Amino acid sequence: MKILNYINGKWENPVSGLFIDNIEPATGKKYGEIPDSDRADVDHAAQAAWKAFPAWSALPAGQRCDIMFKIADGIEQRLDEFAAAESRDNGKPVGLARVMDIPRAIENFKFFATAAVQFSSESHATGQDAINYTLRQPAGVAGCISPWNLPLYLFTWKIAPALASGCTVVAKPSELSPVTAFMLSEVCNAAGLPPGVLNIVHGLGHRAGQAIIEHPDIKTISFTGGTVTGKKISATAGPLFKKLSLELGGKNPNVIFADADMEKAVTTSVRSAFTNQGEICLCGSRIFIQRNVYESFRDAFIEKTRALKIGDPTQEENNLGALISAAHLEKVKGYVALALTEGGKILTGGQQVNPGGRCSEGYFYEPTVIEGLNDNCRINQEEIFGPVVTLIPFDTEEEVIRMANGTNYGLSATVWTENIGRGHRVAAALKCGIVWINCWLLRDLRTPFGGTNQSGVGREGGWEAMRFFTEAKNVCVKL
Ligand code: NDP
Repeated sequence: MKILNYINGKWENPVSGLFIDNIEPATGKKYGEIPDSDRADVDHAAQAAWKAFPAWSALPAGQRCDIMFKIADGIEQRLDEFAAAESRDNGKPVGLARVMDIPRAIENFKFFATAAVQFSSESHATGQDAINYTLRQPAGVAGCISPWNLPLYLFTWKIAPALASGCTVVAKPSELSPVTAFMLSEVCNAAGLPPGVLNIVHGLGHRAGQAIIEHPDIKTISFTGGTVTGKKISATAGPLFKKLSLELGGKNPNVIFADADMEKAVTTSVRSAFTNQGEICLCGSRIFIQRNVYESFRDAFIEKTRALKIGDPTQEENNLGALISAAHLEKVKGYVALALTEGGKILTGGQQVNPGGRCSEGYFYEPTVIEGLNDNCRINQEEIFGPVVTLIPFDTEEEVIRMANGTNYGLSATVWTENIGRGHRVAAALKCGIVWINCWLLRDLRTPFGGTNQSGVGREGGWEAMRFFTEAKNVCVKL
């Protein structure tokens, strides 16, 4: 399978003529090629996006809304095909792609299609003397760069609000999971999205991605990915005075108080630990358990973890598929080895898995639970982004708040308690952008989404995203 760049409404080879192998994580084998794009392709895409900008930004919002609904319908009509492609490209179970990734991509387009027609701006009366009103004008050409873990889900989470706001887009999916982005270009074309409004450039982060960040005509950048890459992007984009939204890594605490509904806490904590092989920025990887329920929670958690099935992602019965790449598998293995040197005890998991058959060279790893590590060690400070969690006992509310806040990250947290006052109190004290009380990954697309500290800068979702992709201009009229 050879995929191509989508620029100015056409599918094109990269200018260099070079391609990169696309590997299927479940088999470890090459199954396709993607463009190894560089500055020349990005430049071509940026030119097309600027050419399309005046007409797209001037289009009545209702017409942008109609086209975006057609795009949502186009994905929906091919849902099974999209889910199979996402699973093959990323290694995730096909059932998960069918109920989570692809439906959410459809929802992103529908949600922001309606946002296009409902977005409004403020006006401020200055006593009897003047009236101010705020124009929200589309920012221009937006650069949207997304990671491999939730490929179409996160790609469209950026593209949809950019298009709804009237921006045109140059976008790059991760080179590790590019296929559904290519399929999206087919859908957009069929839906009548005008040429140049969305341009998709495939390739490596340090080449094609970096060219987007550096391009003088792409001044608005929405990036989701790792904290190290985020720092690099900040360093490049800062002196160029670009507008940046950075959604980065996390090391999220999951706090279990003794008064929690244990059945729900255990079941959801297994989900928040291992869904998508633990490759979700919102996964709860540090599980803090109040000491008097530590053992009962631990034993129930391990029992449910051991019941998870791992194997060929095309098989509906499997809960976990393959990790994204050989390099990522090595990273996860390295962290588990480090956990042992730091004094950790593996309660379950801790081994690579060989499911046999066509998957015998795939990148599978057991869901792994570790205890006995202090909250300051590297395992509890660094993002592993795989199926590995630690269990840490605590005694008091103050102590767990201190430990939960004790990393450089600040993306999300989960709190389990039946004490409503405690739930609100702890939520307010946690230093992060998102807190779930007695649930996890329950999303309302209107809410602000993002993190603090090294988890990022800015917020996505709802009006936050519409504001990001527009420039505010105040107009003051003397009465
Ligand atoms: P990376 O930072 O490696 O890559 C993210 C994207 O940036 C990819 O498309 C990558 O391309 C590209 N990229 C890499 N280098 C550059 C560069 N110098 N300039 C521009 N673009 C570049 O992250 P991963 O793909 O490994 O994703 C995992 C990370 O994403 C985790 O840390 C996770 O926590 C985070 N994440 C955060 C979320 C959030 O909402 N806060 C949500 C999901 C994930 P390529 O892949 O081709 O190198």
